[in-house]
Amino acid sequence: MAVSLTTRLAGVVGDKSAKPLEQAFGMRTVDDLLRHYPRRYLELGELTTLAGLTVGERVTIMAKVVSAKNFGFGPGGRRTRTEIVVTDDTGHISLTFFNQPWRGKTRPGEVGLFAGVVEEFRGKLQLSQPQHDPVGDRLSRGIMPVYPAAAKADSMLIERCVGTVLDVLDDVPDVLPASVREEHGYGGAAAALESVHRPRSLAEAHAAQARLRFEEAFVIQTVLAQRRHEAAEARATARPAVTGGLRQRFVERLPFTLTAGQQEVADQLAADLSAAHPMHRLLQGEVGSGKTVVALLAMLQVVDAGGQAALLAPTEVLAAQHHRTISAMLGDLARSGMIGGAEGATRVRLLTGSMPARARQESMLDLVSGEAGIVVGTHALIQDTVEFADLGLLVVDEQHRFGVEQRAALVDRSDVRPHVLVMTATPIPRTVAMTVFGDLETSVLSELPAGRQPIQTTVVPVADKPAWLHRAWDRVREEVGRGRQAYVVVSRIGDAASEGSQETRSLVDLHAELSEGPLSGLRVGALHGRMSGDEKDAVMSSFAAGTLDVLVATTVIEVGVDVPNASVMVVMDAERFGISQLHQLRGRVGRGGEPGLCLLVTMADAESPAAERLRAVASTTDGFELSRLDVEMRSEGDVLGTRQSGFRSSLRLLSVVKHESVIVRARDSAERVVAADPTLDAEPALRDAVAALESSERAEYLERT
Ligand code: ADP
Ligand code: MG
Repeated sequence: MAVSLTTRLAGVVGDKSAKPLEQAFGMRTVDDLLRHYPRRYLELGELTTLAGLTVGERVTIMAKVVSAKNFGFGPGGRRTRTEIVVTDDTGHISLTFFNQPWRGKTRPGEVGLFAGVVEEFRGKLQLSQPQHDPVGDRLSRGIMPVYPAAAKADSMLIERCVGTVLDVLDDVPDVLPASVREEHGYGGAAAALESVHRPRSLAEAHAAQARLRFEEAFVIQTVLAQRRHEAAEARATARPAVTGGLRQRFVERLPFTLTAGQQEVADQLAADLSAAHPMHRLLQGEVGSGKTVVALLAMLQVVDAGGQAALLAPTEVLAAQHHRTISAMLGDLARSGMIGGAEGATRVRLLTGSMPARARQESMLDLVSGEAGIVVGTHALIQDTVEFADLGLLVVDEQHRFGVEQRAALVDRSDVRPHVLVMTATPIPRTVAMTVFGDLETSVLSELPAGRQPIQTTVVPVADKPAWLHRAWDRVREEVGRGRQAYVVVSRIGDAASEGSQETRSLVDLHAELSEGPLSGLRVGALHGRMSGDEKDAVMSSFAAGTLDVLVATTVIEVGVDVPNASVMVVMDAERFGISQLHQLRGRVGRGGEPGLCLLVTMADAESPAAERLRAVASTTDGFELSRLDVEMRSEGDVLGTRQSGFRSSLRLLSVVKHESVIVRARDSAERVVAADPTLDAEPALRDAVAALESSERAEYLERT
């Protein structure tokens, strides 16, 4: 029988073995099994040190039998329990088997392999109902693989099935082109699989792992290199800067000078927009680093060149705010055809889903006629019914909220593409950026505008120090007394009981409680995602105008909301938020030249990991440092934005966090391969692997933005 990677597993190893493998790990094909790499290797030279075992761990050990004894129990003593005691020559552990009386005959001195979960019984460690294998001819190789295992699919079963498969497997197509193998000194694909599963030494196993890890990185980087290649081939309309245009007039009237970083990025964007192929750039900048102004300069350059620019915001609140601030900043430059409009002015329009039909219609007419040079909007912008006279630039704000399909909906409409600028305030570690956003060029705004004050963050541990919560509300009152404003952030909207959580302060409850209690006499408003667009807008406007002192809100305010007069933020149940999210949230205060204060209220135990995360957030305002911590504290799957689903996870050996140098090497090689052969005609195995990656759910995380 010809066995290839796509052969059904059951046909090779039999139904009886295939079934538990499918149930435990979702394995269906030979490939699925062979990609289930050993978690580690057991060197069989010496017995496993039993002193190192911990309760609850699933282990595979090699040990020597000391004694074996059967005990009868149950009615008439018809059932048996066999207790085998094994040793590593220093300590003992007992193994318990039920109704396998033949095990009572196991001979003392025999060395065997035992796999199971370590339990504690009457103060002693034991493995209950373990799997048991003689060491057999493994000793001649001196090393055995230990696989990620499950109750019905133990490591030794997997090892046996892998052996069966490897014995009959045909040659394996190699996704690494010969030139790449040579460049890095890697062997063939089939040899790597053999070596990772049946190595003769640890060194051989590690070399195979290195090759397979590189392979994972290489396929991803090939996908991204193809995307970059395709983008570079695509055409866009060049939008060079115009002397005396809106961009220049706007810069001249800015109430502040751009920071050196802003100037540099602005110049970079100006150059990108002047080219006849589409800009595709990611702008990372700390909260408050002034990304919006820089984007506005780019938008005005496009308008000056006769095109239109669209700014896509993740929420209605943010879209409305951008529309307000951009209109205000531009002043008469945005009042084309209106009283007081400047010569050569343009128009800035808003387009969101909850706008009244009439207003929407007006915005859409201005877009199709070209009357509006700039439009700010939400998802509503990307519906087919919205037409532009000449869309030249798409700016996506806080892009992690948007899918690429949505980006694509605007970008792919014609063969001449708009330029694209994607902005994010969540700092992304270099390797993650190279993997997840590898098709974008990256710019970073790292300095904050001069005079910006650092935000002081304090953890308020109400479990240990209940009085501190009163102090927190006092601080809010003090700030309001000084003419400042405050945010109170809540993790849920509805009433706590119905959402199954006693301790979560619901927004509605808390709003009432604060208004009557600790914040009575202050003007307290509420803002959450279930309010209508108009309601949200009204509340946000009154907070911005200063007619509300305190805003009790859900995380709708997380991104981009800009009220410089707000100086203090209290985050309730802060342990419910992630590190990056807290960093985003607190960026809403301290935007007005006075230090901001952020109070993280938590019930979490001081010793808990949650409390540790909060202390990390309090200890630094360096976004890159925090994103590193965040990545360390989360699992790989979370980092990549994939849904967590153990066995489905596509990355087996590659860690986006740990293997930076592998990713860099893979990127270089992929770039070279794609440049020489963009459609990979000469590399069918690689082309197939790329197609599989793109069509699988893995493509989802690559594109997750
Ligand atoms: P981001 O979107 O990066 O979080 P914004 O663009 O909203 O930041 O800018 C935050 C605030 O700082 C805005 O009120 C903006 O007008 C102001 N700002 C931007 N650039 C400067 C600068 N160079 N000097 C002073 N203030 C600035
Ligand atoms: Mg912003």
